[in-house]
Amino acid sequence: RLAIEALIRRAVEHDGFELYYQPLFAAAEPELRAFEALLRLRDGRGGLVAPDLFIAIAEEMGMISEVGHWVLRHACREAAGWPSHISVSVNLSPAQFADGGVSVLVRSALAESGLAPERLELEITETVLLHDSEHVLRELEQLDMLGVKVVMDDFGTGYSSLAYLWRFRFAGLKIDRSFVMALDDGNDAIASVVRTIVSLGRVLGMRITAEGVETIEQAERLRAMGCDRLQGYLFGRPASASVAARTIRRHDAPRLARRARKSPDSAVA
Ligand code: C2E
Ligand code: MG
Ligand code: MG
Repeated sequence: RLAIEALIRRAVEHDGFELYYQPLFAAAEPELRAFEALLRLRDGRGGLVAPDLFIAIAEEMGMISEVGHWVLRHACREAAGWPSHISVSVNLSPAQFADGGVSVLVRSALAESGLAPERLELEITETVLLHDSEHVLRELEQLDMLGVKVVMDDFGTGYSSLAYLWRFRFAGLKIDRSFVMALDDGNDAIASVVRTIVSLGRVLGMRITAEGVETIEQAERLRAMGCDRLQGYLFGRPASASVAARTIRRHDAPRLARRARKSPDSAVA
């Protein structure tokens, strides 16, 4: 624990974190839509410290706001260099909301990078809304007014109070990986629950993403159930910014060619 604390301190002081990017694809046609930025910390022995672990420690150390600020600035700067139809998704920790000023940081990260607000998605878990929720709701409204999209991450785990879903108009909802894994058991009840989450999200005008998609069978089922976006090892693991750039080039060339065939006049747009 002490070693991880030291690694975190050193990374904050010397720009030592890294961001990995994992692709998100449209479910209907396999088109690249976004990347989720995922924070990485090297352990100094050629490996990586588990994000769940070091992020929890950074929260306990009271350093998550500094770390979160770094993530926002770097993710926005990277995404500003991508084609304009590709968004970036950034995870925010509940502790960042407790410290306040999240919308101020988001505004400055957007201004500094020149990234259009609608290309930034912020992922929060419902624990953000557990405590002090009036203050948090005000912050979320501010983010909404900026034009960024606030998405509920890991939906279906934890308390999953449906009340949160109507207290704030989330732009999207990510169905937790545990549901996607459970689909493989062939249990009809789980499939019904996933279908119900999708229709609930649909009624509330939210975009539904399924995370942790590892097999073609899962992808096909989730597509048939009406999910809008799919994310998981099947489509790509989290990887460095240069790998993300390569993924973009690989997927963009065929996309532009398809466009050109459809409307020859706007081929270079
Ligand atoms: P998350 O936001 O739910 O991110 C998804 C996690 O699932 C990532 O783990 C990703 O690598 C993993 N994953 C994606 N597809 C698959 C799959 O097909 N199979 C399996 N088994 N796993 C998959 P990761 O990168 O270890 O991050 C864990 C958690 O740490 C994240 O969960 C998020 O809550 C947190 N986190 C990561 N980066 C940040 C950050 O910049 N800020 C904050 N506050 N939290 C972060
Ligand atoms: Mg996430
Ligand atoms: Mg998640």
